[in-house]
Amino acid sequence: MIKGVLLDISGVLYLDNQPLPGAIQALEHLAQTGRPYRLLTNTSRNSSHQVVEKLQRMGFPIDANVVLTAPLAIRAYLQKHDLTPQLIIHPALASEFSGRFKGRPNAVVVCDAGEHFTYDALNKAFQHLMTGAPLLAVGDNRYFRTEDGALHLDAGPFIRALAYAAGVDPIYLGKPAPAFFQMACETMGLPPGEVLMIGDDVEADILGALNAGLKAALVKTGKYQPGDENKLTGHAGIGDSLFSLIDNATQVGK
Ligand SMILES: [Mg+2]
Repeated sequence: MIKGVLLDISGVLYLDNQPLPGAIQALEHLAQTGRPYRLLTNTSRNSSHQVVEKLQRMGFPIDANVVLTAPLAIRAYLQKHDLTPQLIIHPALASEFSGRFKGRPNAVVVCDAGEHFTYDALNKAFQHLMTGAPLLAVGDNRYFRTEDGALHLDAGPFIRALAYAAGVDPIYLGKPAPAFFQMACETMGLPPGEVLMIGDDVEADILGALNAGLKAALVKTGKYQPGDENKLTGHAGIGDSLFSLIDNATQVGK
């Protein structure tokens, strides 16, 4: 039985800053069933506060505590392990980490930092890693495209450079890392096997969730491409709309 639901945000709830048809009603329907849910995103250029505000502005009836961004997961990891980070992040994320950590850095956090990927910052991070600091990251995306069509380096190449230089393995705390999905389930007090992840990205959302022991369903919106269902391994659902998937998953007996 599905007792809780995780949802990807972009391409599932909205596209091009507009709610997808039926998405607001789908969340209302989910809330009416009494099941907890969380909204997951890897975004590392917006704070969780900005993500919540954007969704509320579009009309999604959500509380702030349902949004779990990958940087928030990193913050929780740092607190759990009593670590103080050197941050290589976008300024929009500074508030997420400010005032919480004391002492000399004994961890390195790398998100998409844009022009803040300086030699000085990377070299300091390298030095911390060489003394045993863990390397924490949201994901290893190679590049991204901005609205003007230009391609830009994402965090992945920098994370790999640091990992290569210091001979360490990064700890990823964004989709598709199992730790991120498991952390989201923990915040709902549910075991992964009772939680359904719904997303539009086969690799990051669906295969990631299945690897973490969750159930998963691919929605045919956002970045879905015909044929994506052929990449699914294991048992995953698929549906034309978020509403139909949520309605189906929350029927009595499911
Ligand atoms: Mg998506």
